[in-house]
Amino acid sequence: MRFRELSECYSKLESTQKKLEMVDILANTLSKASNEEIGKIALLTLGKIYPDFVGIELMLAEKMAIKALAVATGKNEKSVAQIVEEVGDLGKTTQTLLEKKSQSTLLSFTTQKDDTEYEIIDVWTKLDSIAQTKGEGSSDKKIRILSGLISKVSPLEARFITRMVVGQLRLGVAVQLLLEALSKAKTGTREKKNILERAYNLTSDISFISEKLYKEGIQSVEEIKVQIMNPIKVMLAQRVSSADEILEKFEGKVSLEYKYDGLRVQIHKKADKVKLFSRRPEDITEQFPDVIEFIKESAEQEDFIIEGEIVAFDLKNEKILPFQYVSQRKRKHDIEQKISEIPVRVYLFDALFAENRVFLDEDYLQRREILFKVIKETENIRFSHQIIAENTDEIDDFFHQALENSCEGVMGKSVGQNSVYQAGARGWNWVKYKADYVDKLSDSFDLVILGAEYGKGKRAGKYGTFLLGCFDVEESIYQTFTRVATGFSDDDLAYYFKLLKPLAREKPKEVLSDIDCSVWFDPRIVIEVTGAEITRSQMHTCSRGYFENENDGLALRFPRFTGKLVDDRPPEQATSNEEIRTIYLKQ
Ligand code: AMP
Repeated sequence: MRFRELSECYSKLESTQKKLEMVDILANTLSKASNEEIGKIALLTLGKIYPDFVGIELMLAEKMAIKALAVATGKNEKSVAQIVEEVGDLGKTTQTLLEKKSQSTLLSFTTQKDDTEYEIIDVWTKLDSIAQTKGEGSSDKKIRILSGLISKVSPLEARFITRMVVGQLRLGVAVQLLLEALSKAKTGTREKKNILERAYNLTSDISFISEKLYKEGIQSVEEIKVQIMNPIKVMLAQRVSSADEILEKFEGKVSLEYKYDGLRVQIHKKADKVKLFSRRPEDITEQFPDVIEFIKESAEQEDFIIEGEIVAFDLKNEKILPFQYVSQRKRKHDIEQKISEIPVRVYLFDALFAENRVFLDEDYLQRREILFKVIKETENIRFSHQIIAENTDEIDDFFHQALENSCEGVMGKSVGQNSVYQAGARGWNWVKYKADYVDKLSDSFDLVILGAEYGKGKRAGKYGTFLLGCFDVEESIYQTFTRVATGFSDDDLAYYFKLLKPLAREKPKEVLSDIDCSVWFDPRIVIEVTGAEITRSQMHTCSRGYFENENDGLALRFPRFTGKLVDDRPPEQATSNEEIRTIYLKQ
């Protein structure tokens, strides 16, 4: 298929907000794709060239894309940058400038050649070489490849290509929508999405499952199994706010564990090879060579997939340190230095695969038994501290012990029948009970920054107030929940201005908001916020449609930024509208 056809589909997708319509538009184009190209089309549609865990990203700085555009249009770089700033959209600017250029070429009686039309695979290959060009002189080379590409394709294609290379495709197509469209394209109905979603949760690889669907049919997708070195989407927890609630949820018996305040890690081992994946899931192996050594020393079996939490550890005082420390280990440079500055430990809690057997469907306590077999405890590899509790006193005691040992609270896990590992789900088999939930007034939320207003006075020139939202998992949209301006130091404001400015854009269509903002952002940055109370609101869209008055939504009153940037989870794993509703109803 020509990339032109895919671009026309993207352009149509941009013109509607309606989810079903988007599924149909996309399905229509996907149904024409060949077996060889469908995997790449699926990735490109999500703005990627590889699945996240492969670690090869298209993330050219906007400045470089502007240089490439200047070369392609024969304009000077400064004036291109100025137009981009005015239009506020690199993709649109690219299209307009190229249209102007081709009009002037047509005026001089030159016709465009047909054979310059690019196949999707060709565009993917060029984008791949941009992403993989490294080392000395690589910037110039990347600019050359990009300018060469955009000067050969049509202006509309160039619009989407430049957006892809700077990581801002912005079609409003989330994985869930893409899965529905793939189902429709290949089976004629959206209903097989669940099968595709299951396979996606087990492998985190959209290109693999879409190719399998096209080449071998839906039945073979149904048979897809966990594959070592392909991260499984992590299981998440619901929140509860009392010991009673935990017992009630688990019918009187629960596995309780410390809730460590660190980085979730899924560890894959195959013979001598060990890889670490975050909850996003990204490959974080290179950042933790110390953890790789610990795992190799402690492993009792050849192949396995296990899960745990990496925490920073104060060796002198024998104490776990808060998340802010371990998050400094997620860097690409000076790794050796950081290993000695911030040593870490791993607290393991689950086993998902070992010696060629998948354990996702086993009960939790059985999975823990398997964990004890595949690896032994050593200085830096520990099993999460656990008890089986059957009354509230035991839970409260354990909870306070957890806090004394520098943990955030406890995790409660089902030990009943069906206490399976639900890949990719935030189900009720696991609950989290954190110190800040005890007092409902200080409940904390991980919210996505959707927009901002410029500050005044001392805050002039930076963003001063932020519009924050939660995620609606079912609809794959962001809903507004509060506006926050307190809790930010001057350094924070400078930091968030730098972080957010490149993400500024037109209002994203996956954001449902009645509030207008001076600046809208790609919904990517998640921060932690506390508040005084959740109230009904006709201004905010969180959970709108769930109350008797259909204009009512929920809002957080007196919000305050806690200082924590939540950078280990994608925005789709931010606090959901459902979680907020649960807390509201409990209030
Ligand atoms: P939250 O990030 O607040 O949704 O809480 C769930 C997270 O707690 C998981 O993703 C883990 O990173 C972390 N966690 C810490 N200790 C445990 C544990 N013992 N079992 C499961 N998850 C844990």
